[in-house]
Amino acid sequence: MVKPGTKICLAVKADGYGHGAVGIAESAIAFGADYLAVAAVSEAEDLRQNGITAPIIVLSPVLPEEMETLIELKLEAVISTEAELILIKAALKKESLKVHLKIDTGMGRIGCPTDQTLSLARMIADSSGITLGGMCTHFPVSDSSDPSDVEYTKEQIRTFSGIIESVRKDGINPGIVHAANSGGILNYPEAHFDMVRPGILAYGYLPGGEEALLSSLDPELYPKPVMSFESRLMHIKKVPAGTDISYGRRYTTAGETWIGTIPAGYADGFTRKLSNKAKILINNRLYPVAGTICMDLLMVDLGPELRVSLYDRAVLFGSEDGAMNAADLTDITETIPYELLCAISKRVPRIFD
Ligand SMILES: *Cc1c(COP(=O)(O)O)cnc(C)c1O
Repeated sequence: MVKPGTKICLAVKADGYGHGAVGIAESAIAFGADYLAVAAVSEAEDLRQNGITAPIIVLSPVLPEEMETLIELKLEAVISTEAELILIKAALKKESLKVHLKIDTGMGRIGCPTDQTLSLARMIADSSGITLGGMCTHFPVSDSSDPSDVEYTKEQIRTFSGIIESVRKDGINPGIVHAANSGGILNYPEAHFDMVRPGILAYGYLPGGEEALLSSLDPELYPKPVMSFESRLMHIKKVPAGTDISYGRRYTTAGETWIGTIPAGYADGFTRKLSNKAKILINNRLYPVAGTICMDLLMVDLGPELRVSLYDRAVLFGSEDGAMNAADLTDITETIPYELLCAISKRVPRIFD
């Protein structure tokens, strides 16, 4: 998918998109990832405390009081203003720090305005103790196949390439040039530059535009969810027709049936929006969620003929064959797989096998 030699910077922000950042970082490095990216200094601290020594980029702006930690842990900051550069200079004693200069080519978020980039790059190059580790930008619609979005992204790539060129012409080494998120990786090979920054794709989901991609992607390369969000069947009972299930009495049994209870709820990240809608895989069959999803528990209608056993594994969503995956649920939840994955809360143990 990427040219040999292209570096990989895996986004492990938001606890590795809900998968567990430390475990994901360990396997990513074992598989050859060069860099890790987090959003916050605290996330990088957690990785360092757990023995991760790989280079880490902190994607979001850093508070003045976090500079010391940033320097101490040898994290690489993404900066886009002179003020940030001054803060770093003031915090540096004898150490050195790598920074990545972010250019806003169309995200409208952080990033240096395009016409100010060259002068900021010069300031960085002239700062002792600070090296320009890289130059980067970000794409808001690289996952879209809409023609105007495609043109927008291509224009971003042209702008970015032009700036990199002018920096080089000025005798400044731009460091590692990087731009592509998952959408950029899939749809714009010309935007891979020196390093790519996959997130969602590495966790086995497409960033969007699934239909367009389904036909163009080699089935071998089609991503498969990495995680399975699982619980167990902890209570089973037979109930008569007309039994109301859960808060709000939003589900009433049509006939005599078995109701199972699973100890997972919205506090675990299984949103209430899935009440009466999601289907849970137990013993190779999908069973509908019955009624409102509670904070800690949810119920499923197991039907009149019991085909499961107490303590069976229950797959809420994920990689298991036959189970719903986070992308299947996004129509119901009106969100994207990213949000469902990140929502899996802290009390759910992450098991790597
Ligand atoms: C999160 C993030 C990525 C990864 O995005 P995906 O769409 O998950 O591939 C890349 N770059 C930046 C700056 C990000 O914030």
